[in-house]
Amino acid sequence: MLYGRLAPDTTSWRCAPLHGTARPGGAARAPSAEGRRANMAAEIHSRPQSSRPVLLSKVEGHQDVVSAALLIPKEDGVITASEDRTIRVWLKRDSGQYWPSIYHTMSSPCSAMAYHHDSRRIFVGQDNGAIMEFHISEDFNKMNFVKTYPAHQNRVSAITFCLTSEWVISTGHDKCVSWMCTRSGSMLGRHYFTSWASCLQYDHETRYAFVGDYSGQITLLKLEQNTCSIITTLKGHEGSITSLWWDPVQRLLFSGASDHSIIMWDIGGRKGRTLLLQGHHDKVQAICYIQLTRQLVSCSADGGIAVWNMDISREEAPQWLESDSCQKCEQPFFWNIKQMWDTKTLGLRQHHCRKCGQAVCGKCSTKRSSYPIMGFEFQVRVCDSCFESIKDEDRTSLATFHEGKHNISHMSMDISRGLMVTCGSDRIVKIWDMTPVVGCSLATGFSSR
Ligand SMILES: [Zn+2]
Ligand SMILES: [Zn+2]
Repeated sequence: MLYGRLAPDTTSWRCAPLHGTARPGGAARAPSAEGRRANMAAEIHSRPQSSRPVLLSKVEGHQDVVSAALLIPKEDGVITASEDRTIRVWLKRDSGQYWPSIYHTMSSPCSAMAYHHDSRRIFVGQDNGAIMEFHISEDFNKMNFVKTYPAHQNRVSAITFCLTSEWVISTGHDKCVSWMCTRSGSMLGRHYFTSWASCLQYDHETRYAFVGDYSGQITLLKLEQNTCSIITTLKGHEGSITSLWWDPVQRLLFSGASDHSIIMWDIGGRKGRTLLLQGHHDKVQAICYIQLTRQLVSCSADGGIAVWNMDISREEAPQWLESDSCQKCEQPFFWNIKQMWDTKTLGLRQHHCRKCGQAVCGKCSTKRSSYPIMGFEFQVRVCDSCFESIKDEDRTSLATFHEGKHNISHMSMDISRGLMVTCGSDRIVKIWDMTPVVGCSLATGFSSR
């Protein structure tokens, strides 16, 4: 199994664009035959750029923020877990509206949820640190209590259930990841971090767990029956990690953070290749990667919904270079006292060109440009020579941006149906048809570069 060599040579991985060490450039992925066919089709049938998510329904009635919601597979139903201490199963009625068929009140606010559809098992994490397991009846009208797991000392932030190993894995604000046996209900192992563990992804086949935390670090651990080992740490974000998505097929990890950015970590490539995606103007709250169409859907706290085209060879943003003087005009930066004295000039502020990474002064980087191939969907600082090198077609957006019209705190998708559910700070849950913007490369209007 290649996973034994999953970790890079070093014990930690850094994403160059924000801070860190240089990485070798990644090889471009050749477009697949399907990709080429889809692009040809897209040229013939391309839809207008006005394609956007369609709001299908609003689910209202919660007394507080909904911390988690998911669409029940193959049903017109939604399960919600809320800070108002309720778990509710909502089914669509003949009127077209969603009404609760299950309304269960818990002892503490609900903070996280995992649902396994085939076995109808649901795990609800609470603000008091406990996880409760329930079994939902086939007709979604009854929910029976199964077990309580003393998972954490503080708020549960994420839960994953693995049927094969019968493990329930969770992260919490007690700074730990814990894994417990669902047969015995006993704690198997725990690992502590230096800050709140905020999100979790798990590879069922290899027992690798990715844990994002409030310091902005992601830790990759291999979980064993009673112990675990740290494989590597991924450092690149400048704010707390809010969301993670692991794609076991392409072995890509996506992370969203409060620094407004998303990073794609090419774990399977094992070369430390990272791609930066900057298009949100607020905290990234949730992400979902659609492997089939190679699109990443992300939502931000300001209500932004972005759909990123990952089916193209994107470029890594460069490492920021260090210099004591402008790498264009050679004027000293303000800490370079010697050169300032020798040349009798005043020191200048240091800036960095986002495209070439050179340390430049303000006068040599007066222009701003977007550069989507490197993930810069909005205008960023570039040096004057890089600005000259960017052609108009290089500014063609590689993502589409849409309005959720509420401050999104949580999102999940039913990828097979192209449906999305968003939870907002307005306590409203919205169900969206995403097929106008995802589902096939034809629908996106994207064309190959
Ligand atoms: Zn300069
Ligand atoms: Zn430059």
